[in-house]
Amino acid sequence: MALNYRDIVHPEDEKALRQLQNTPGVKLIAEKIVNMGYEKFYRNLYMADHVRLGPDQLPEVYNLLPPIAEKLGIEVPELYIQQQPAPNAWTVGDKHPLIVLYSGLITALTKEELASVLAHECGHILCHHCLYKTVLSLLQSLAVMGGIGLGVDTLLSKPLILAALYASCYWSRRSEYSADRAALIYTEDIELNKSALLRLAAGPRSVSENINLERFAEQTQMQDDQVANSMWDKILYTILVSEKTHPFMTTRLAELNAWGKSAQYRMVLDGMKNKSMVSSGAKCPGCGAEIEDAWKFCRHCGYQLK
Ligand SMILES: [Zn+2]
Ligand SMILES: [Zn+2]
Repeated sequence: MALNYRDIVHPEDEKALRQLQNTPGVKLIAEKIVNMGYEKFYRNLYMADHVRLGPDQLPEVYNLLPPIAEKLGIEVPELYIQQQPAPNAWTVGDKHPLIVLYSGLITALTKEELASVLAHECGHILCHHCLYKTVLSLLQSLAVMGGIGLGVDTLLSKPLILAALYASCYWSRRSEYSADRAALIYTEDIELNKSALLRLAAGPRSVSENINLERFAEQTQMQDDQVANSMWDKILYTILVSEKTHPFMTTRLAELNAWGKSAQYRMVLDGMKNKSMVSSGAKCPGCGAEIEDAWKFCRHCGYQLK
């Protein structure tokens, strides 16, 4: 069974996206992006100013990507590196989305953790998030700089731009839960995904190696208790989160944990395995590991098999 985005999409993501699609300013910007082929803005930017990875360009990073795309059932997207110290990644575009890894992410994570982040980004593609992530990025530029191109700055008033931005951030935070689920489907190793999230919160391995993940996860309950017991804390929390494009890290951990224990997660994995586990014993020419007949890329080293 091929993976369908409906297998992993978080119900709050789906609901918030429907609301977002009917938000007036958002609809206008999304149409402009699609009709004007605005994704080329980003392709030009990244092609001109950042390093595009491939089988011959930093293969130790690039080769992580094709097996992930294959397992999640999407086309292999273009992959770029951007010189930025923050450990971050993002996916932008519409018909042909591209993934950007910040250099700080590559130095902060192990290769396996990096694969889980790439799978998260591919999850955004699978769940059709990229158009609205691009809308969000454009709205952020409009709100901060007063407008770049597309003519939307002359069509939308500042209050409408801000309202659309808040609605986009609200959805974006929920979209992260679905992408985290995609990452778990790829790695099938929840501890690995959790340690990748920990590094995003606490810094590279040199800093975060000895941090206790369980203690960190307990902060979710402490935060929930704090908000539950005080209206003022609840107001502050709402203000704090409202402009964020991502949920707080402890919330992401809690959501990931809950889905990792769910029957839905098991069912999706079992369904995928029934199809892909057939092996006639062939070995990968790249690394020698046993490979399954259906694979196009070795899941161990990224070697192209077909
Ligand atoms: Zn994401
Ligand atoms: Zn291999």
